[in-house]
Amino acid sequence: MKKPERVLLAGGRVVDPGNRRVRIWDVLIQDGRIAKVGKQLRATGAQRIDCRGKHIAPGFIDMHCHLREPGQEDAETIATGTKAALAGGFTKVCPMPNTDPPIDSEALVRFELARAKEAGFARVYPIGSCTKARAGKELAEIGSMKQAGAVAVSDDGSWVDDPQVMRRVLEYCKAFDLPVISHCELTGFPYGVANEGLVSTRLGLAAGPDVSESAAAARDILLAEFTHARLHIAHVSCAATVSLIRWAKARGVQVTAETCPHYFTLTDAALETFDTNFKVNPPLRTDKDRQAVIDGLADGTIDAIATDHAPHTKSAKEVEFDIAPAGFIGFETAFSLGYEQLVLAKKLSLADYVSRMTTAPARILGLPMPCLQPGADADLVILDLKARWTWTRDQVFSRSQNSPFFGRQLHGRVIGGFLGHKQFWFLHPA
Ligand SMILES: [Zn+2]
Ligand SMILES: [Zn+2]
Repeated sequence: MKKPERVLLAGGRVVDPGNRRVRIWDVLIQDGRIAKVGKQLRATGAQRIDCRGKHIAPGFIDMHCHLREPGQEDAETIATGTKAALAGGFTKVCPMPNTDPPIDSEALVRFELARAKEAGFARVYPIGSCTKARAGKELAEIGSMKQAGAVAVSDDGSWVDDPQVMRRVLEYCKAFDLPVISHCELTGFPYGVANEGLVSTRLGLAAGPDVSESAAAARDILLAEFTHARLHIAHVSCAATVSLIRWAKARGVQVTAETCPHYFTLTDAALETFDTNFKVNPPLRTDKDRQAVIDGLADGTIDAIATDHAPHTKSAKEVEFDIAPAGFIGFETAFSLGYEQLVLAKKLSLADYVSRMTTAPARILGLPMPCLQPGADADLVILDLKARWTWTRDQVFSRSQNSPFFGRQLHGRVIGGFLGHKQFWFLHPA
């Protein structure tokens, strides 16, 4: 990273997700801000970067990831995770609080922010726990965590099982205008490494039914309606949850939702490889669910795309399927998978796709609206949509390498970007 003074991004196609437009424009960056945007700008003395044939978009926001610090620094740190995030085009990330110890106090929120600032890669907007130690019993220090910079609360990794506790979390967060992010998974069902269905039966894998997710989502949607609070449903994976959210939005419930690239890219058929990298929670579902998730993104029922980036060390994943930890790293492949499955497949326009990773999470979390207008912070990514590339282990920025997508041909690529005074480039030899 170096410090540019004035930089002219010349001739790129500028994606404006707020106005759902793409235009060929120059962008002049000065002192970490966007100084001018327009046709054929003159900027004598500026560093000129030829962006013809490339796209320029606001930096992406990942509203759901795991950076593992504090506690599991052998899998990821805030520094390695935020660098991997930049490589995927995410200039802002929201780490979930299921670290060790969990982020349930003002001091721990401040710790995360300080580590992120020191690292100087993607900006971090912490998510605090709903309950102390994520134990689901007593409320965490929600007010002081918000004061310190937390943008939402969640006990991600677990569902807040006790309805009275969840009601109090929602009521409390309403007073602070914070969204409550629910990891919807009923307790009591056997923990499924796979979706309960034909594939799990054939392979003999421990399976959990999709109703575990949808029934949990139904309770939380009704509690959000009852308390008039803001609920956000994490990692929507099945058709029934999409229908419930659509129903709730039509009723005026303040509910938003996210899904992850793997739920619109893969199905449980991938488990036939017995590769533990395909194990994720919630599990990969059927093709009917995958289509429903895509339809939910297309009609706005699902607001945002998040990665649920979940690093695990090699030794943790190299065990039997039933005991391997769930989740895989997601920053560095997210944009390409969505571009392939949603834009090239003609389900979403490019501007609408970009909005799912920029304006939508910003609106949910109350962050400044991502845009490329004069006066805005220089916070943007440069994309090569014509790129065809294969992701290999030697390209990984994350400290962990648990991904099912090595060797897969990917479409469209983040090649670099700007964040304040810094420019970053991740052009790997193709
Ligand atoms: Zn979760
Ligand atoms: Zn998660």
